[in-house]
Amino acid sequence: MNLSEYGYTGGYEKEKEGYLIGRVTEQQRNMYTVITNKGEMDAVLMGSFVHGAEIRADLPYVGDFVLLKYNDSGASRISELLPRRSKFSRSDSFGHSFAHIKANKEQIVAANFDYVFILTSLNRDFRVSRILRYLSQAKESGGEPVVILTKADLIDDCSKQINEVRSAAPDISVHAVSSHTGYGLEALNPYFQPGKTVVFLGMSGVGKSSLLNALANEELMLVNETRKVDESKGRHTTTHRQLFVLPTGAMVIDTPGMRELGLFDAEEGISAVFSEVEALFPNCRFSNCRHKGEPGCAVAAAIKEGGITQELWESYQKQQRGNQYMDNKTEYNREGAKKWRSMVKAERARSKATRAQGGKR
Ligand code: GDP
Ligand code: ZN
Repeated sequence: MNLSEYGYTGGYEKEKEGYLIGRVTEQQRNMYTVITNKGEMDAVLMGSFVHGAEIRADLPYVGDFVLLKYNDSGASRISELLPRRSKFSRSDSFGHSFAHIKANKEQIVAANFDYVFILTSLNRDFRVSRILRYLSQAKESGGEPVVILTKADLIDDCSKQINEVRSAAPDISVHAVSSHTGYGLEALNPYFQPGKTVVFLGMSGVGKSSLLNALANEELMLVNETRKVDESKGRHTTTHRQLFVLPTGAMVIDTPGMRELGLFDAEEGISAVFSEVEALFPNCRFSNCRHKGEPGCAVAAAIKEGGITQELWESYQKQQRGNQYMDNKTEYNREGAKKWRSMVKAERARSKATRAQGGKR
């Protein structure tokens, strides 16, 4: 294989004796999976590299190209982070297991992508204002933003929504698709060229996983679950890939970090988007109603009478469960989710306090 298939456009002069250039396909704690011209391998950070890093953004993440010292009897060691041509980051208040790495600094959540797909559903959650917010994030990333309106099968005619987006953002491409029927997917082919990398940005529930699976024409999440032999213990360990290769040779980065970006945005606007749902709660017979079939539940009544759709209710619940999606995946994610939840709490308290002062976030 050739690393250019993985989007590498730089030179190979750094590949001196014993060194290789590779792309990070997976990161869990301080363990990396890196694809190189010699195939996929485990890697850790070289001590001198760690000491030279000051902030999290100095450390490699999924999508990054790195230089590593090849080791064929154990983990190879990453000695250098190669320049990023695009990146998504968020501010990091987690701190890091390397004590000298400062918290509250930029953390990378995806790197070296060509396109940023901004996904939003064509159901009643559709808001042009949200798309514009994502657009401003995406434009700073260095990737080319593309607006994807998902679940086109839910409405008869999406030309009104497409035109709304076009007039709000005339220079951005807009596509309506349905992962369920396949509608509109062909129009995405120009983006999924060999060696190109796409990241998905969008709230939980907009259909990111479904689109990824539809594009791959198979259950990609399962297919890409690689089994690596852990040499030291002589057994197979299951890993969860964060950079997927599609049959066309294009790649999609789907990291928990990108999903958190989406969720943060959602948290910010959650009561605006879901105010219809929350307005129902005071009307439930029981004040501690969990809206799971209790008698006199106003949510159940509204769904029955068509006041809100089952789908809106489900996406509301999904949102409330936060990144349960992440919880189910790996230890790293379970730990991350815990930190994430306390972070969201702090963020909510902060924005509430700011609002109380009449200030601006
Ligand atoms: P994610 O959280 O962004 O990864 O969203 P998922 O891919 O898990 O989809 C969330 C929900 O939307 C699921 O119930 C999907 O079946 C549904 N969904 C996804 N794509 C489509 C679509 O094209 N049409 C319809 N009607 N539903 C969809
Ligand atoms: Zn209720």
